[in-house]
Amino acid sequence: MISFTTVNDLSAYIREIKPTKTIGFVPTMGALHQGHISLIEQSKKICDITVCSIFVNPTQFNNASDLENYPRLIENDLKLLLENGCDVLFLPSVEQMYPNGLQKNEEDYGQVLKLFEGLHRPGHFDGVITVVARLFDIVKPHKSFFGQKDYQQCIVVAELIKRKFPEIELHICPIQRETSGLAMSSRNLRLNETQKADALLIYKALEHIKTGFGQKDLPRLIDEAKEIITSSGLLTIEYLDVANAINLEPIENSNTKAVALAAVHCGPVRLIDNILLD
Ligand code: AMP
Repeated sequence: MISFTTVNDLSAYIREIKPTKTIGFVPTMGALHQGHISLIEQSKKICDITVCSIFVNPTQFNNASDLENYPRLIENDLKLLLENGCDVLFLPSVEQMYPNGLQKNEEDYGQVLKLFEGLHRPGHFDGVITVVARLFDIVKPHKSFFGQKDYQQCIVVAELIKRKFPEIELHICPIQRETSGLAMSSRNLRLNETQKADALLIYKALEHIKTGFGQKDLPRLIDEAKEIITSSGLLTIEYLDVANAINLEPIENSNTKAVALAAVHCGPVRLIDNILLD
């Protein structure tokens, strides 16, 4: 694996390989787990060269303590990337990524930025748009790989690609879960065993919605799912709802392609998860 820390060095390498190699790109914030590795595996299947970036992007954190406490485990990340045959690692500094200071997107990306994560984490997606656009400009991949785990992020990245990078293919990869059902996340590292055991109720609640969707009354189904989560005194719900899977607007009827989305606080950690209801 070749590692780069500067934009200049990586750009020179990309210029050299791009004419003859298909470049797959997996952006991450590190503290890698099987969820990230599944994206790398997918890229390796269909691309010649897989580039993974690790960058904890300050502009997408709307909470200073979340940024400060975000796990940083670079030694372990390097080991995982090597074991899984990643070809290129990009590990830039904040200065490399933001040479003109921490400005972020000001363009209007529409209503979808104002719902769910957009509503609860103001400015978060503007930070995501900024960093993904900067990384796309540097890596210039043919294909990019994102996880369905961050469902709304996939919608936002699809819009960014449509507007600014139509040459880049977007591949959305399935959510990797622990055997308990808990969606893998770097933030799970901050959960103790009891919290982790209770956090799997989030997936149980989403599965409950999926099972009853189209059969039971939707508000009742959502209430039941909320009860599953709040049966643990350790969990508090930020949102749990069903939305149109394309634009996250409220669904009109059970024929709409729908997704159930949840954000739940477990101790010091905010967890998100989702399930498609088809
Ligand atoms: P992060 O490091 O959390 O920014 O995630 C980097 C990429 O990995 C994003 O595209 C995430 O959606 C994806 N990802 C994170 N967790 C999972 C998971 N459990 N399953 C699949 N993809 C994931």
